[in-house]
Amino acid sequence: MALRSTGFNSGLDIGKSYYVATANPAPDHPALAGDVEADLVVVGGGCTGLSAALHAAERGLKVVLLEGGKIGWGASGRNGGQMIPGLRKGAKGLVKSFGPERAKALFDLAFEARGLVLDIIERHGIECDLRLTGHLVGAVSASDVRDFEEEAECLAKVMKFTDVEILSSAEARQMVDTPYQGAVYERLGGHMHPLNYTLGLARAAVGAGVVIHENSVAVRLEREPSIRVFTDNGAVRARHVVLAGDALLKGLEPRVNSRIMPVGNYIVATEPLGERNVIPANVAVSDTLFVVNYYRMSADGRLLFGGGERYTPSPPADIAGFVRPHMEKTFPQLKGCRIDHAWGGLVSVTTSRLPHIGHYGEVYFAHGYSGKGVILSTLSGKLLAEAITGDASRLDLFSTLTPLPFPGGMALRGPLYVLGMLWYAMRDRLRH
Ligand SMILES: Cc1cc2nc3c(=O)[nH]c(=O)nc-3n(C[C@H](O)[C@H](O)[C@H](O)COP(=O)(O)OP(=O)(O)OC[C@H]3O[C@@H](n4cnc5c(N)ncnc54)[C@H](O)[C@@H]3O)c2cc1C
Repeated sequence: MALRSTGFNSGLDIGKSYYVATANPAPDHPALAGDVEADLVVVGGGCTGLSAALHAAERGLKVVLLEGGKIGWGASGRNGGQMIPGLRKGAKGLVKSFGPERAKALFDLAFEARGLVLDIIERHGIECDLRLTGHLVGAVSASDVRDFEEEAECLAKVMKFTDVEILSSAEARQMVDTPYQGAVYERLGGHMHPLNYTLGLARAAVGAGVVIHENSVAVRLEREPSIRVFTDNGAVRARHVVLAGDALLKGLEPRVNSRIMPVGNYIVATEPLGERNVIPANVAVSDTLFVVNYYRMSADGRLLFGGGERYTPSPPADIAGFVRPHMEKTFPQLKGCRIDHAWGGLVSVTTSRLPHIGHYGEVYFAHGYSGKGVILSTLSGKLLAEAITGDASRLDLFSTLTPLPFPGGMALRGPLYVLGMLWYAMRDRLRH
């Protein structure tokens, strides 16, 4: 596949990612040329858009998908690959915000994402280095362990969910070779090669009849008298549109875009570590810092480590140099090891850290997974397809969560958010 910067979302070095270097062969899809008609036009070839397209086509709709770069060009093809069931907001937070009954309904629905992704991988024979080894959250302070205990209690009592285990510092150390104060081990987590999963999802969508156009940036959306999405070289007229551009959507629909904030996040892949493997249990790991470190081993024995955020639109000039200190602080034993790949992507966060999913008339959207979208995005796409084909009951559960817009409007949300984030980043430095 020819994944290279074309101007659209360039600068974050996807071409240098470990995932591109190890991508399964995938076809190119021609750019849109001229005017076409469909039942549904989807903007965005990440997991949200592809899943919406796949599930809508399986329900008999004629679907055209426009992707501004290549399939997997956005977060879906660049992320940490950590499969973490649930929402970014934990059980306690959900109960506090929505009460026990609604919190449990949200938790159960979000949890479906795991089974759905596993089913798609199996049904479509997607080779994506799937490892169902669990997810471990390492505590950087003793108070985090107390939080884990309260969260586990709430999960058991309200959500009737007991697949988590609190680990002592020594138990955690047997799974990952860094000194945490303790940990929570989520047995149903895991990790995978996200670009290969996304490419597999695209193959499944095409198999179901979806027409994909790459290098086709949607530049304008017309709602009246009917939906029309324009690129520089053509337009798609349809009854419904799904906006699945996440952090890259920009001005296409300001009501949607004002609810998310794009944050730059960066990852490195080391050389294969052989006997220096630092995660003997091969689990996906993250820690309790606000600017979270997250990491896992790749199928060929590299450490894939994500750490450090930037709140300015431009990436650091030297991504490897930017991430390395975070990695070496967690694993001093890897000091000086070779870094073979370094890249970045944009995470879209919301004020509530809950996704923003819903519709304005026939304009449907889902985004803002706040760093927990690897499996949730596939579920959102399915919920959008259900709603478009007549059953909005499950989508409505999520669509009532609408997060508040960022303060300061489109112009000032960046600077105000940066101030807030810098405060939290400073707090991390004091804790760790
Ligand atoms: C560095 C990084 C690490 C992450 N790690 C994890 C993790 O380990 N676990 C986890 O659960 N989540 C993680 N996430 C979050 C997760 O990757 C995302 O939530 C998820 O992939 C979002 O999928 P999506 O399909 O909604 O958006 P995307 O994958 O970003 O897809 C949007 C697509 O729309 C296209 N597009 C945008 N605008 C237009 C337009 N106008 N016209 C045409 N096309 C357009 C883009 O090119 C892009 O391909 C991470 C994110 C990043 C950036």
